[in-house]
Amino acid sequence: MSGETSPPVRVTVAVEAPRHAALAAATGLLDYTSERTLAPGTLVRVPLGRREVAGIVWDRPPALAGAGAEVAAADATPAQAAASPATQTPTPTLKPVKAALDAMPPLSASWRALIDFAAGYYQRGVGELALAVLPPQLRQIDDTQLARRLRRLERPAPPAPPAVAAPSTSPAPPEPEPTAAGAPPTGAAGAAAQVALTADQDAALEAFALDATPALLHGVTGSGKTEVYLRAAARALQAGRQVLVLVPEINLTPQLEARFATRFPAHTLASLHSALTPAQRLRHWLLAHEGRADLVLGTRLAVFASLPRLGLIVVDEEHDASFKQQEGARYSARDLAVWRARQLGVPVLLGSATPSLETWQRVLQGRYRRLALPQRIGGGELPRVRLVDMRRLPASGPGAGSGDATPLAPPLLAALRERVERGEQSLLLLNRRGYAPVLHCPACGWKSGCPHCSAWRVFHKADRTLRCHHCGLTERVPRACPECGNLDIAPIGRGTEKLEEQLAAVLPGARIARIDADSTRGVGELARQLAAVHDGEVDVLVGTQILAKGHDFRRVTLVAAVNPDGALFTSDFRAPERLFALLMQAAGRAGRDAAQSAGSEMWIQTTSPGHALYAALVRHDYEAFAQAQLDERRAAGLPPFTHLALVRAEAREAAAATAFLRDAAVQLQALAGAADLRAYPPVPPALARVADVERVQMLVESRSRPLLQRALAAWLPGLVALRAHHRGVIRWAVDVDPLAI
Ligand SMILES: [Zn+2]
Ligand SMILES: [Zn+2]
Repeated sequence: MSGETSPPVRVTVAVEAPRHAALAAATGLLDYTSERTLAPGTLVRVPLGRREVAGIVWDRPPALAGAGAEVAAADATPAQAAASPATQTPTPTLKPVKAALDAMPPLSASWRALIDFAAGYYQRGVGELALAVLPPQLRQIDDTQLARRLRRLERPAPPAPPAVAAPSTSPAPPEPEPTAAGAPPTGAAGAAAQVALTADQDAALEAFALDATPALLHGVTGSGKTEVYLRAAARALQAGRQVLVLVPEINLTPQLEARFATRFPAHTLASLHSALTPAQRLRHWLLAHEGRADLVLGTRLAVFASLPRLGLIVVDEEHDASFKQQEGARYSARDLAVWRARQLGVPVLLGSATPSLETWQRVLQGRYRRLALPQRIGGGELPRVRLVDMRRLPASGPGAGSGDATPLAPPLLAALRERVERGEQSLLLLNRRGYAPVLHCPACGWKSGCPHCSAWRVFHKADRTLRCHHCGLTERVPRACPECGNLDIAPIGRGTEKLEEQLAAVLPGARIARIDADSTRGVGELARQLAAVHDGEVDVLVGTQILAKGHDFRRVTLVAAVNPDGALFTSDFRAPERLFALLMQAAGRAGRDAAQSAGSEMWIQTTSPGHALYAALVRHDYEAFAQAQLDERRAAGLPPFTHLALVRAEAREAAAATAFLRDAAVQLQALAGAADLRAYPPVPPALARVADVERVQMLVESRSRPLLQRALAAWLPGLVALRAHHRGVIRWAVDVDPLAI
C-alpha cells in the first residue's frame, strides 16, 4: 500500500471454480489487477462473475507466462471471459483484486507445488483443489478477523488441543504398547529414552535415518510400530522440524494423539480432520501454517496442511482405503504424502502389517525400503488361526435348521463359552449391521427392496424399521406383506443385531455388547463403548470391521470372523487384498497382552478352507499372499502392473449415462496415443442405483502412467464439451487410480 500511484500490476489468482463447470478445460487460474505487488500464495478476495470469491495468488503457468508479453495487459484471458457469462464480450480491463489477507504469511511455494501436482494428476482445477483443502472459515473471513484469530493463537494454548470428535476419550487412554522390558512408558517429561527398544525397532530406526528414500515399516500387529514413529518424530523435532502423522480413521486419532502428547509435552500438537468444528479447524490449521504446531496429526485431508518446517511424514496403516478421497478431487493421501516428502527431500514412513500391493510392489522394485518388525513385543505370539469348515458342520444351537440357529459352529461356540468362563474377552466380526439384510414373504416372494436404490432395505429389529443403508429411506416394518397381505413375513440372513440376540440366547449370563455404525451414532458413544470393553465389562463383543482397526483390546484372546467368504468371490479385484488385511488386523486384536498371547486364537468360518488366502493367513504369511496376488494381477493386467482411471456418469436413466460414456470413448480413440489405451465398455457398478440416480462407469487402462496422464489431460476438455450434448447426465467425474471398480 505505498502511497504513490504506481500502475496496477497483473496477478494470476487460483479461484474456486470447478474445472467441469464454467471454466471449461481451464485450471481455475484467472488474471486480475492489483494496486501493489502480491506475493504468490497470498489469500485474496476477487470478483468472479457477479460474486466475490476467495482466491490465492498463484504462479503464472509457464504457457501464460511465455505469452504474457504478447497479451495486452488490458485483455482478459480467454478463461476469464468464459468464466463471466455476464460479460461475454471480452472485458476491456481486468478486474481488480478486492482485498488481500496480509495478516498471515503466504502459502509456500512447496505447498503450491503440491496443489499443482495433485490437481494435474487427479484432473481437477488448481483453484478448485487449493480452496477446497483450506479451512472453510479461511475462505470467508477478512484481514481484520484473521489478524484477531492469529492474536488468539499467541495465547498459551493447552499443551495438546485434543479438540477431537470424542471429548470423552479418556477411556481409550494412551494405551502403552508393552515394551521389551514389559514396563509401559512412564510418559515422563519429554524423555525419549525411557522405553527400551527391541533390536528390530532399533535396526529399523537406524536404517530409516540413513536416507530419505520412502520407507515401509512392515510390522506385525503388536510389534511396536508406534514407538518407531515416536522415535523418528523425536529426531525431527529435535532438529527443529514439523512432523505430519496421517491416520486412516478419526476414531483412531484420540489414541495416537494422546501418545504423542504424552511423549512430547513441550511441543504443540494440532489435529486436522473433518470432525473438528470450523473454528477448531481454522485454529489448528493456522497453528500448523504459522509453524507454531510441531506435530500435526490428521486424516487424509491433513496431507494438504501448510507446514513451513516439515521434516517427517508418517502414514499409519498405509494400506487403508480411507486414505483415498471418494468425492470431489479423488486423491490418495498416501500417494501424495510420498510425493510431498520426495519434493521436500524429507523422509516418509509408511507403516502397515499388510502393506498395499502397490507399496509392496515398490519395495520389490527397490523404490521403497522395507524396515521389518517381524516379532511381537515382549515375545508375544501371534494368534493361532483356525479354519472351521462350515460344509462339514451341522447348524448348532436351539432351532438348528431354522433361521434361528446361531451361525456359529459348535466348536467355536464351545471356545466362546470357555473364554467367558475364564474371564477373557472374545470378539466376533460380521460385516453386516442391522438385524437381517432383507425381509421376505414366503407366500409371494416379496423382498424388502429399496424403491430408490438397487439394494435391499435392512431390517432393524430394535426400532422395527426397514432402512436403506444407501439413501437412508427408513420406514416402519409393515405388519403384513405389502404385496399379498401375508402376515407371516420373516427376516432372511443375519446382521450384527441378530447375532447379538442369538448369542445372548446361547451364552446365558455372558455380557454381550455390539459395536457398529448403529450403536455408535451419538457423539462420544464409540469411546464410551470401547471404555466398557477396556474395563472388562464385556465378555463377547459383536461388531463390524469398525472393531478390527487399531483398537488395542488387551483382554481379547479370541477373534472370530463369522462369515468372511463373500469377499473371495466378488468381481472386485481388490477384495481379497482388503479381506486379508482385515483378517490380519482382526487377528491382531487377539493376544495383545503378551502374558495371554499363548492361548489366543483367530477363528475363521468358511466353506472354502482350501483357499490360498486362508492358507497364507494360517501361516501369518503376508509375503506369500502378496506374491500370489501380484502374480494374478500381472497375469490379468491389473494394477500395479497397469494404470487405471474410471470415468463415472450419473443420470436418471442408465441409457443417458451410457450414451455419454460411449461418445466419450469415441473421443478417446481419436486422441494421440490411443492405441496404447484401452477403454472398456460402460457398465453399471455393483450398486447401480442410489436415490433414484443410475450410475454407469467406464474403465480406461494403460500400461504407461505418463501416457494415461497425458491422455486424460487432453481428453478432459472434450468431455466437458460433450456433457453439453448429454443433458440427461447429472454428474460425471474422473477417478484416477480408483480403488473400487
Ligand atoms: Zn407376500
Ligand atoms: Zn435406498
